[in-house]
Amino acid sequence: MVITMKALKQIVNTDRSYLLELYTAEYGWYMLPCWHAIDNRCACPKGADCTAKAKHPRLYSGQTGASNDHNQILEWHTQFPTCNWGVVHDKSNMVAVDNDPRNGGNETVWDLEKKYGPLPPTKTQLTGGGGWHKLYTLSAKCRRIVSTLGPGIDVKHHGYSIIAPSNHTSGGSYRWDMEAPSYLVEAPEYLYARPQNTSTTFSQLRVIPAGERDNTLTSVAGSLRGHGCGAVEILTSLTAINEARCTPELPKADLARIANSVQRYPSNVKPKIQWGRLSEVPVETVKWLWPCRIPFGMLTVFEGDPGLGKSMVTMDLVARVTSGSPMPFSDVVPVAPMNAMIVNCEDGMSNTVRPRLEAMGGDCARVVYAKTKVTPIAFPENLGELEAAIVENEVKLLVIDPWTAFLGQGINMNNDASLREILTPLSAIAERTSCAIILVRHLNKDTKQNSMYRGSGSIATTAAARCGIAIIKDPEDDTARLIAAVKNNLAKPQPTSRFVLTEGAWPTIDWTGEVETTADQAYAGGANVEKPTVYAAKYISHNINETYSCVKITAEVDTGPHVFYGYCSSPAGLKRVHFALKALGCNKPKLDWQNGIFELNGLGDREAKATLNWNAKHENFEIGYFYEVGK
Ligand SMILES: [Zn+2]
Repeated sequence: MVITMKALKQIVNTDRSYLLELYTAEYGWYMLPCWHAIDNRCACPKGADCTAKAKHPRLYSGQTGASNDHNQILEWHTQFPTCNWGVVHDKSNMVAVDNDPRNGGNETVWDLEKKYGPLPPTKTQLTGGGGWHKLYTLSAKCRRIVSTLGPGIDVKHHGYSIIAPSNHTSGGSYRWDMEAPSYLVEAPEYLYARPQNTSTTFSQLRVIPAGERDNTLTSVAGSLRGHGCGAVEILTSLTAINEARCTPELPKADLARIANSVQRYPSNVKPKIQWGRLSEVPVETVKWLWPCRIPFGMLTVFEGDPGLGKSMVTMDLVARVTSGSPMPFSDVVPVAPMNAMIVNCEDGMSNTVRPRLEAMGGDCARVVYAKTKVTPIAFPENLGELEAAIVENEVKLLVIDPWTAFLGQGINMNNDASLREILTPLSAIAERTSCAIILVRHLNKDTKQNSMYRGSGSIATTAAARCGIAIIKDPEDDTARLIAAVKNNLAKPQPTSRFVLTEGAWPTIDWTGEVETTADQAYAGGANVEKPTVYAAKYISHNINETYSCVKITAEVDTGPHVFYGYCSSPAGLKRVHFALKALGCNKPKLDWQNGIFELNGLGDREAKATLNWNAKHENFEIGYFYEVGK
């Protein structure tokens, strides 16, 4: 039987089981059952008098009750088989651009596209009457989002969108745009709010009449000189003021004369660069928060794949610092407990960070965090306030997790020079305050790289940090993690250490000892492999907080059986891996769901690569990373 486009449209907009599985298992969305429409009334008890017809939550807890747990969704689906469904934006890490053509939305889009080019194509919902919702993912979660892009175009981030399968009181229903991509793309830069600009513009200043031009500009130049400006800077400023405010403009030669004349006066500001003799530098030994691993007064980078417990390890360190306990594998008992600061974006303070820290024996009274929610922290904009808080609270350990979530306006994480605008002053803050600063970051997906290059974004972070630590899954034991040195400028790299998470509602870290595996070997899949073949490095999941289930793949190639490991985020992910491998010519992928094991026959190296890439490219789902562990 051939499925027609019409039939397909019907399925992807009305098949409730299919859609709900797609939303939760595939996208990881937080779903909210809502009241639906019956004719032009709301199905709720208020009926025709309802003021939010077919748009308000069915749950007493309202929007906060939304869930991304598939079993919970199925339960609601059984309970409310005809209900409308909403997707909660902020929890699902998305933003919705809402076009209402009745209020001039199409004109606003037209203007926007003239300015910025076409809106990036992404998963789009048609709301009827020519309106649409475009859904975008957010990479920098803590940045502020604009609320509108102009008349008729709202940008929604704190609410929820009603989506298919749902109806509205006009008699129509919500539908996915089949012409649009089936996945969400990154939000364009203009959806993020710009920092407030408080400087006065020239247009607000008065005009300088002919008789006052020379004196006024000389006075401005003198003041700029007093602030340490040189002739070029002064001339540039005078030119701008001359153009904006002088009527008529002063000749250019006069501007140069003024700039040069004030240049003779000494500046009140010390020159930026001061030179000295090395013999004047006091000799200092490095002081360590964690001996030979984390120095005071410097940056340390902590990296690892999502879900491996980077945050758990940093919390363990915070707990030790604040309770005055020695660091793992160290006999050095600190003189006294110290204060720590957490700048965190992914975990809630009340429901995650505090209970976790308390379970680990930390002293929460010694932990400082930023209460601000409305204006998220961004660097370099807030570095001054950060340093003030470190000094005021005598913070000796600062954890920024993940640090790329706090990049400010215009900072490009893939550009060395751009990142150094933050890293250089941040290193200086660490040095001035003697605070140990840990930058947590996720790994990039390039498993072929040397461990030094695995952190996401530019190498500048690794370069600026004096020490680097990676958290890697133990290739010998799925339940264990390794913590390995990837960089150490100050001391001999310490041996790789091993830890497991304890059982219980709030697991703690059990440091079990040291192993011989290096970071590069652990990334590659084990110490016993000399030069491992790494195939692909991507995830199926969009939800980085999920625990990954493991797939073990055995492939028969010329030289004998090879074993591959991969990680998938959900049973749906496992299924897709299975389909993918079958499609590439692996004739009998035997699978054992119980243990998550696939056995593959007739699979060559080249084809494996081709298929994994094929999937990532064309279906926009990403496969867990696969690597060979032995021959
Ligand atoms: Zn209602």
